[in-house]
Amino acid sequence: MADHGSKRWRLVLTSSPLQGHMTPMLQLGTYLHSKGFSITIAHTEFNRPDPSKHPDFIFHPLPDKLSGPDISAGVIPFLQTLNDNCKPHFKEHLTQIINAQKDRSDKESIVIIHDNLMFFAADVALELDLPSIILRSSSAAFSLAMMIIPQLHQEGRFPTQDSLLQEIVPELDPFRYKDLPFIGRPIEETLQSITMIIPKTPSAMVWNTIEFLEQSTLTHIRNHFQVPIFTVGPLHKIIPTPSTSFLEEDTSCISWLDKQAPKSVIYVSIGSLANANEKVAIEMAWGLVNSNQLFLWVVRPGSVPGFKWTEFLPDGLVAQMKDRGLIVKWAPQKEVLAHKAVGGFWSHCGWNSTLESISEGVPMLCQPFDVDQKLNARYLSHVWKIGVEIVAKSAEIESAIRQVLVGKEAEEMRQRAMEIQDKIKFALCDSGSSNNSLKDLVDFILSL
Ligand code: UDP
Repeated sequence: MADHGSKRWRLVLTSSPLQGHMTPMLQLGTYLHSKGFSITIAHTEFNRPDPSKHPDFIFHPLPDKLSGPDISAGVIPFLQTLNDNCKPHFKEHLTQIINAQKDRSDKESIVIIHDNLMFFAADVALELDLPSIILRSSSAAFSLAMMIIPQLHQEGRFPTQDSLLQEIVPELDPFRYKDLPFIGRPIEETLQSITMIIPKTPSAMVWNTIEFLEQSTLTHIRNHFQVPIFTVGPLHKIIPTPSTSFLEEDTSCISWLDKQAPKSVIYVSIGSLANANEKVAIEMAWGLVNSNQLFLWVVRPGSVPGFKWTEFLPDGLVAQMKDRGLIVKWAPQKEVLAHKAVGGFWSHCGWNSTLESISEGVPMLCQPFDVDQKLNARYLSHVWKIGVEIVAKSAEIESAIRQVLVGKEAEEMRQRAMEIQDKIKFALCDSGSSNNSLKDLVDFILSL
């Protein structure tokens, strides 16, 4: 436990209502609580975390007036609604805490920790003269890419002409123009959202990444922001945390996995936000069946637009799938990836999924959709060489599944994945980089 002397601390954490943001925020909160800090989670009502899983935290709802469709309506309206609606309640709550403590001798020092989508929290911190720390739940490379897109735009390199797409972006080597985030989106929307979410005045930044994975990128980031940067990933391996899923996990898949041979199953999931259209989803299903390998497939309800769940699958295909695999609505993913029966992960390559897979030494089939996923897929396939990038065509899928699960190439990839897993274990041990960074973060907060 950190030595707080006579001082008391309240950390007020606020995360956007996205699974990939909320999970690392709750994990960081759990770690900081174990070091003696009091934790308040200020959360939206939409996709609210479950207080019963974190009995030591105080939960404070922010009336956000959001609903599912707002998230798919477009980035700018979503961010604007989220930030405009949450800000007044957040400020009022903090002001009440400060006022209630005014005449107390043992008052708490308050520090705000927020993700980059909840940028209203940075404004409130400035207005109330409180320190604020940003938690980034994606790679450092994604932030660097976002930071240089306005410059690429000014120089006529973004949006990118077709002839340049395969080229390396010199400022972002080894990433290519085609790996850049937001590539197919309207440029004005992209520039506006980047201006909104690039942090402006944080006291410090915490990254759910690992120093050895992104060393040179982190150097750029440190030079740019000139504030302390803590690299504390992978957070899910730091401290046991109860499930943070917004959807109910179907744990029956674990007993199904228990019955399968080691490294024989490909686990398939495209995360909490990506959608696969009907044609793509059917290609995926044929690829799975024709690969002749066992599979565990998460089809999130509604993730194939126009269908409630798996009604897009033709009857004949369903019959063939029954013998080889299991389809669930939502899985306990970390447990699945740590299971000995899982030999590969076919993923959209969200950053949390990427970290969860490499932490277990599981090679990946990379099917990136949007945002940071193409950068992560490039890391996996080109830099770490533990992934195979695919487009969703059934013939290509079936051979890629075999490439990752069986044969010499699969064995070599698994070997490299296990080497990365070992380095991650080292980063988490007593003198490892992530563990040291967490201790530094605690010291930093105590110094504020
Ligand atoms: N996840 C899960 N069960 C599933 C699918 C995903 O628990 O069936 C979790 C996964 O472990 C990860 C998160 O959802 O922590 C997805 O985050 P990621 O950054 O990979 O992608 P996003 O959903 O933000 O696109």
